[in-house]
Amino acid sequence: MAQVVCSVCQAKGGGLLGASKWFYRILARDYCETCAEKFADEATGAMVATTTAAIAGHQILAYHGVEAVEVYVDATANVEQQGPPPYLGGASPLKGKERRLALTRYAALRALKVRTLERGGNGLLGVSFQYFSAPDVGLGVAAVGTVVT
Ligand SMILES: [Zn+2]
Repeated sequence: MAQVVCSVCQAKGGGLLGASKWFYRILARDYCETCAEKFADEATGAMVATTTAAIAGHQILAYHGVEAVEVYVDATANVEQQGPPPYLGGASPLKGKERRLALTRYAALRALKVRTLERGGNGLLGVSFQYFSAPDVGLGVAAVGTVVT
């Protein structure tokens, strides 16, 4: 299996699948999991994602289609030890399953925004979330939206 090198920190992995550390390909560059999360936060932090059909003060120039992602809840992650995510504030009251779901929903929206970048968009309309349960993998969150510029 070809070796993958993180384009930011130069960490090496055994491949995109089956590596001891997860790697991601975003906009034709490879990232280790840590650098992928950092890139996604920085690249999509200012992106508008709304449940509405328009973005106030902006004209829709092009529609790039509907995009969707599914993210499963990591039932093994010790969410209490990860510290409060910035979007929940410094003293998050969310614990246990609520916190796990909130983290999964946040990850789904971020993944949807990365897909938006990959489609050449810079905004998302009509965003919605759906929670689902699958027999083998448990609970998950699906995020859907229309990619626009
Ligand atoms: Zn890296």
